Amino acid sequence: MGFFENLKKFKSRLDEVDSSVYTGSKSLLEVYERNAKLEAEIEQRTKELDRANKQMLTLQHIWNMMNSSEPLSSVLNAIVNSLQGELGYVYSFIIQPKLEGGDSYIQIAASSRDDFTAKFQQHFHCKISDYKMVYPQISALKDAVINNTIYQSSNLTELIGGFIPELKSENLAKFFTDANMRSYIFVPLTSKQVHFGSLIVFSSREKISGSELNFLNLFAKQIELAITIADLFQAVKAQAVTDSMTGLYNRRYFEEFIKKEAIRAERQNQHFTVIGLDLDHLKQINDVYGHNYGDIAIKAIAEVLKNNARSIDIAARMGGEEFNLILPGVDSAGGLVAAERIRKAIEGTELEKIGHITASVGVATYLEHTEDLDELLELTDIAMYESKRNGRNRVTLAKSVHETSWQDVAIKTFIDILTKHRIPLDETTAKLLTQKLQEMNINNQKLYQVADALVSVYNPDHADGAVKHKVQLATLLAKRYDLSKSDIDKLKIAVLLYDIGNTMLPKEILNKKEPLSEEDKDYIKQHPIIAAREILKPISNITDIIPIIENHHENWNGTGYPNKKSGTDIPIESQIILIVDSYFALLEKRPYRDAKTKEAAIKIIMSEINSKWSEKLAKEFISIVKDEIDI
Ligand code: GH3
Ligand code: MG
Repeated sequence: MGFFENLKKFKSRLDEVDSSVYTGSKSLLEVYERNAKLEAEIEQRTKELDRANKQMLTLQHIWNMMNSSEPLSSVLNAIVNSLQGELGYVYSFIIQPKLEGGDSYIQIAASSRDDFTAKFQQHFHCKISDYKMVYPQISALKDAVINNTIYQSSNLTELIGGFIPELKSENLAKFFTDANMRSYIFVPLTSKQVHFGSLIVFSSREKISGSELNFLNLFAKQIELAITIADLFQAVKAQAVTDSMTGLYNRRYFEEFIKKEAIRAERQNQHFTVIGLDLDHLKQINDVYGHNYGDIAIKAIAEVLKNNARSIDIAARMGGEEFNLILPGVDSAGGLVAAERIRKAIEGTELEKIGHITASVGVATYLEHTEDLDELLELTDIAMYESKRNGRNRVTLAKSVHETSWQDVAIKTFIDILTKHRIPLDETTAKLLTQKLQEMNINNQKLYQVADALVSVYNPDHADGAVKHKVQLATLLAKRYDLSKSDIDKLKIAVLLYDIGNTMLPKEILNKKEPLSEEDKDYIKQHPIIAAREILKPISNITDIIPIIENHHENWNGTGYPNKKSGTDIPIESQIILIVDSYFALLEKRPYRDAKTKEAAIKIIMSEINSKWSEKLAKEFISIVKDEIDI
């Protein structure tokens, strides 16, 4: 073999090796690539599994909540929070339509992150609550609601811009970028075949996969179930007649029973007595020994009531530490004996740690002290309150309304005002009102009707029943300030009369649609003086009430009118009227603004602490109206 031959062979071997190395490396690359792909898939599947797992856990959590008889609001909040927390959405909330005058506005039923609102308000320098957002504005969303289908879009500006058209779109775009929001999913919710509201979920991803939408659909079904179940729980609760803590009847049952009892008593001309009872110093017991011991004290009272009630008596826990007992067929003498026996039994009960507890008791008898049911409960309450004022742990019998009462004084005053034609009422109305007032057996109810009618003369937006409500709120506040019964009576008359000066103001001013001019305002500022001096002064039996009315527009910081008094220089009764009046004014529609909701009115009252009223007054007031909202 020659040299060249060898070289050629060697070259071809080399080529062979070379090519086999090439194929080898090629298959190695293939294997490597395949592995990488598999690994990516495993990672992807693990992520999906993880996500599915979280979704399952979230569903499980919601399911558990549904079975725990939580109120609907907590269930909805748990739902939106888990969408944000476990499932990683940026923000989520549930809106509901709230019908008002034919339009439906948005009401936020649950929202996943509290500081979202704050961020939003900070970004746009506005308050979300100031906007009345119409439900839902965009046609795609309307279709989604009608067809009950899920809708997804990345046009966030259109969504929020549709709710609040005043917002500038470039500002909105920046807001969404900062908040890492790229798309939203709108899920209509139905409960018992009726549209309930919509879930809105914001995502940081622009594209939402089909499986994700499927999950949200499933999630929506779960929400719908939660709503239905919470509704059922609420209905069952509403039908309950007993108080779960004590086993006594609850307020709802008491109110129903006493109405029937009054009808029966009247028909058979037979008395019944109400004993009202309030545990003394419960706050102190809670503070010193803890809430649990406060509960023990409440239960101890319930036991005494059960042990001392006949089978036909009705013992009820009205709420908190307040109890009422109805004794059918019993007059005030019998009622007093029973009340005293109960008081003694409570005093004689010894509790672990707390020792002896006491209660203050009031007693009033139907057809003896009054023929009006509302009045009966009010008299019981006043008597109980007298027991508190006189040192607690005692029984007080109510005074009959037929003894000269604040109602008599108020009625006489009204008649005086009406018959002397000091107010610009037309003659028929004045006559009608006078006639109503002069009817025999005038009771609270009729008095309030007349007062409502009188206020409606100068305030067409006045709601019937508002005067009574104002008197009730003012009375509750007065009790927090420890006013005596006679001072509370004066306050009640003042509440009926304080705005009487308005009837002398020209109607054109009161009904003005545009904001009032300075001149108009000056004129209006005269009304407390007109009421006090021109209308009420000539009426001799209410001179005590004049200073209350004259000062009912003075502000805590001295910026009120007519005398710019401030702080405790303003009689407390006038301060009470100012806050009660302001609250009701906020709830009423005015020619130049819409009616406020209770929540909005409370916010405004909070914002005027130390300017219009003291902090104590505002807080006491809000605690009273909050209780009312809950009832
Ligand atoms: P008074 O003798 O004037 O009635 O004083 P008080 O402390 O009993 O009355 P106040 O109205 O000042 O306070 C009542 C307190 O009772 C405040 C409230 O937190 C508490 N309370 C209301 N309901 C319950 C309850 O169900 N359990 C407990 N432990 N406390 C309650
Ligand atoms: Mg108490």
